[in-house]
Amino acid sequence: MSLHPHPIEPIPEATAAFARQAFPKGNRYILLRDELGTIYSDEEFTTLFSVCGQSAISPWRLALICVMQFLEDLTDRQAADAVRSRIDWKYLLSLDLGDPGFDFSVLSEFRSRVIAGHLEQWLLERLLEQCKQKGWIKERGKQRTDSTHVLAAIRTLNRLESIGEALRAALNAIATVEPEWLKSWVPSVWFERYGRPVEEYRLPKGKEARQSYAEMIGDDGMELLAQIWSEAAPHYLREIPTVDHLRQTWIHQFWVDNGRLHLREAKDLPPVGKRSDSPYDPEARYGNKRSQSWTGYKVHLSETCDEDAMHLVTNVITSTANVPDIAQTEPTHQALKAKQLLPGVHLVDAGYVDTRLLLDSPKKYGIELIGPTRPNGSWQTKEPEAYDLSQFRINWNTKKVTCPQGKKSKSWTPTQDAWGNPIIYVKFSRTHCRLCPTRTRCTRCATEARSLTLRPKAEHQLLQKMRQQEPTQQWLAKYSQRAGIEGTLSQGIHCFGLRRTRYIGLAKTHLQHVLTSIAMNITRIVSWLLGIPHTRTRISRFAALASDSPLGPI
Ligand code: SF4
Repeated sequence: MSLHPHPIEPIPEATAAFARQAFPKGNRYILLRDELGTIYSDEEFTTLFSVCGQSAISPWRLALICVMQFLEDLTDRQAADAVRSRIDWKYLLSLDLGDPGFDFSVLSEFRSRVIAGHLEQWLLERLLEQCKQKGWIKERGKQRTDSTHVLAAIRTLNRLESIGEALRAALNAIATVEPEWLKSWVPSVWFERYGRPVEEYRLPKGKEARQSYAEMIGDDGMELLAQIWSEAAPHYLREIPTVDHLRQTWIHQFWVDNGRLHLREAKDLPPVGKRSDSPYDPEARYGNKRSQSWTGYKVHLSETCDEDAMHLVTNVITSTANVPDIAQTEPTHQALKAKQLLPGVHLVDAGYVDTRLLLDSPKKYGIELIGPTRPNGSWQTKEPEAYDLSQFRINWNTKKVTCPQGKKSKSWTPTQDAWGNPIIYVKFSRTHCRLCPTRTRCTRCATEARSLTLRPKAEHQLLQKMRQQEPTQQWLAKYSQRAGIEGTLSQGIHCFGLRRTRYIGLAKTHLQHVLTSIAMNITRIVSWLLGIPHTRTRISRFAALASDSPLGPI
């Protein structure tokens, strides 16, 4: 969508006069409206409303109301009430003092239209475009990215609860649309079993008892699926999402042998990214990062971080919880390129960096990607006397490696690691290693010779260079600017409810994150206009005593 200038709807005179009287010292919405106008215009939403009919309230107003809702952490009802009752909202929205407002359900419908029209990111882009025009975003400046976990709006279920709830959710959905059909065959004992939520405290204890219980639910689920797929059943039942979830859950959780259903061993389950644990949000996934585990999603925020400019969120990516951070580095660069907001320097933590990205980012995007590489985890790097990789000389032309004892490698095999990345597997001669006087400094394997795993030449050389640079004060000082993104995530969590999604599903959760980011940007724009300085990254009094701290004294 083009970012053409649009006519700004004037503020009714009575509203403007009353607002200025009510807020003689100013107000953030009045300041925002005076500085940026209405941000959006109706013409920019024509694609959303050309098919489904006009909304009762202007789309540009609805877009702003959705943002203000997240700015103040309001429900739909509270936001609709604020439109009716608050003078600062009326000022920002150019509404008459007596405007009756709208029914709160309009907001939910508007969000669905925004998602259907793929306008989520554009809402943020539109604001950023205006910030760029005002010179608040530096061309090719610095940006930083980090992620945080987002809890799904569902109860976290253990495996047995997940199986029971999958069946219960399907029964509830069918009872809503085909109660008579269900009642005509459902065993009466099912009302006792599935009439209430399947909760841990009511479930049997002990491994065998739990397995039998799960297989009993499995048999019941098989019967329900057989009934749904029988000729007598209305065919549309097969299309119900909870029925499809039940079918998939049964494939993932059970196997059949000689007509008998068995619960799969945990090791035989599909990976977490392939299976859903709750029928109430089938897109939510189990995630794990360091010591944190959760069910839901992950949000990645990128923001500008030049010292002398406004800090604004420039990109938002929402993924399911199981997707690693490294998978979002390239999409972040692509998204920033599409918005013409590529930074010159991009600061990230180790989760977003590998040697390929470090090499490719300058070539493809002109970005200097700064983040620590993963340390070499081998035991040789931890023992001062041992021979680690840096003590081997590599001749890339002859494809030979010379060990610290001057022996040449026996084999050089290009292959791939478990993630499909190219690597070179180098092996030394067993005869040389067996007779080597310093063998214990090189390998702990009594029978095998020393082997090495190398990355391709360019990656290997960069990795070695980075490992030398990373402990230096110069590199640490440059990297220290990344830390501020933690404060941004903290602001999102504590002031804008970023930690928990309000909605079901990835698309709506992403919209929440985009609206939250716009709300954060508006807060920062207002602070900037009021001359409130950036908050510095906090450092403890004790840590500040360290004279060599890259952050310097507080
Ligand atoms: S153990 Fe083998 S590779 Fe290691 S230093 Fe001795 S000869 Fe070289």
